[in-house]
Amino acid sequence: MTELADAPERTDAPEPRRIHHWIGGQAVASTSGRSGPVFNPATGVQAAAVDFASVEEVDRAVASAKAASGAWRTVSLSRRAELFFRIRELFNAHREDLAKLLTAEHGKVLSDAMGEVARGIEVIEFACGIPTLIKGSFSEQASTGIDVYSIRQPLGVVAGITPFNFPAMVPMWMWAPALACGNTFVLKPSEKDPSASILTAELLKEAGVPDGVFNVIQGDRVAVERLLEHPDVTAISFVGSTPIARSIYETGTRNGKRVQALGGAKNHMVVLPDADIDMAADAAVSAAYGSAGERCMAISVVVAVGDVADPLVSAIQERLPKIKVGDGMLPDSEMGPLVTAAHRDKVASYLDSGAEQGATLLADGRKTAPADGFFLGVSLLDHVTTEMDAYKDEIFGPVLAVVRVGTYDEALALVNENQYGNGTAIFTRDGGVARQFQFEVNVGMVGINVPIPVPVAFYSFGGWKDSLFGDRHIYGPEGIEFYTRGKVVTSRWPDPATSSVNLGFPQTR
Ligand code: NAD
Repeated sequence: MTELADAPERTDAPEPRRIHHWIGGQAVASTSGRSGPVFNPATGVQAAAVDFASVEEVDRAVASAKAASGAWRTVSLSRRAELFFRIRELFNAHREDLAKLLTAEHGKVLSDAMGEVARGIEVIEFACGIPTLIKGSFSEQASTGIDVYSIRQPLGVVAGITPFNFPAMVPMWMWAPALACGNTFVLKPSEKDPSASILTAELLKEAGVPDGVFNVIQGDRVAVERLLEHPDVTAISFVGSTPIARSIYETGTRNGKRVQALGGAKNHMVVLPDADIDMAADAAVSAAYGSAGERCMAISVVVAVGDVADPLVSAIQERLPKIKVGDGMLPDSEMGPLVTAAHRDKVASYLDSGAEQGATLLADGRKTAPADGFFLGVSLLDHVTTEMDAYKDEIFGPVLAVVRVGTYDEALALVNENQYGNGTAIFTRDGGVARQFQFEVNVGMVGINVPIPVPVAFYSFGGWKDSLFGDRHIYGPEGIEFYTRGKVVTSRWPDPATSSVNLGFPQTR
């Protein structure tokens, strides 16, 4: 264990592997002349280079999706469901392959990566039910001799832009419902850990998804900006940080596209005085430091109410030295590195700013981090207040802040006044107060004695306030709505002999 300064980003590996686009059912090398490094965060060594698309390459991917669109939407629902069962089997068979790619490029420990894949597969399983999910409704004799029915149809070519922290699962949130609904798809994954996107493409091809239905375009903002303005892209799903989410929403909607843009988070866990201290401490530690805090549903703030604060902070502190930080490929590692050196350093900077602004630094992860790679050990700031940067900013690392308040009302106000509204949790034994919290809190996903309340695949995921721009949450029933548009048909089969001209507005009785 040494100081962080001993772990610079290294780019000395020979001839890195190249990660390409996937267009029209095959890998396509970029000719843009631009690329980015992909690191193994556990060693700090560059493991690969990823192509960065030119505008022409994005256009090629969209053209491929458009060309496949007509035939794909005619594939029957039963056949699409059958295909999704095959997709499910293949992803199940390759769980570990996918998880290993996540660990190698993101850094999360293998067991956590397996969890990511498992939660993504649940969305594939949900999509297997597409014949029931996409059903319309029918009203016989809505007016005399007239039937009215609603149907839902695909949008055409849709695009997904995804963050580094869930390189397999977040794309699954998008492509599984999008394809099941009959759309074709262009994915722009994070440039930090792009390999999972290519294994995904290969598995979809192997399952029998026709060429062009699923495409991957690697790259940076050049690719994103082209997708946002491309006239053949009908809808954009985005998951990432709030400033980019806001700009994607504004630009995409200005260009006439349907957009759901999920942003950042600051998730509070409120602990009431009657809570079980050990259970609350276990939950806070698990939810704050799992995946090194690089989860949009990580608990980053514990709000300790009343006299629970001292025993709770002690119980959290006791647990910290036992957490095993190390290379995610090693079986006993519980927490891996951060994704890049730059991100690690930014996260660590909040330990200094927190202390300077009056917080108490109870655990300094810089002192306990392994020497190689982009590690930061578990860190704890107590007596944090809402004016401090460590409270205001989304840190997205293994730094837990404790804010002490006197009452439930103060805790609720704190959560409701925060700019983000992704997830929150309350720990209490009082069902009445928990129900009150659920009623009053302005947050999209609420856990009651559950620290990371990511909804199961048959509900939808999404935050409020600056955690989501757009009016549809992602996956689940709202995902089906997002990737389809409604059409209502009014039909009659009258006897032509009864026909006459009538200029009056149609009446319904
Ligand atoms: P990010 O916003 O930096 O990047 C997300 C995507 O946008 C990437 O594909 C990236 O290439 C692209 N991008 C980055 N800068 C861009 C720019 N200027 N113009 C156009 N495109 C750009 O996010 P990240 O660092 O990859 O991921 C972490 C963030 O994602 C955190 O804020 C986290 O809370 C958030 N997140 C939110 C959810 C959610 O469901 N709300 C889920 C996962 C992650």
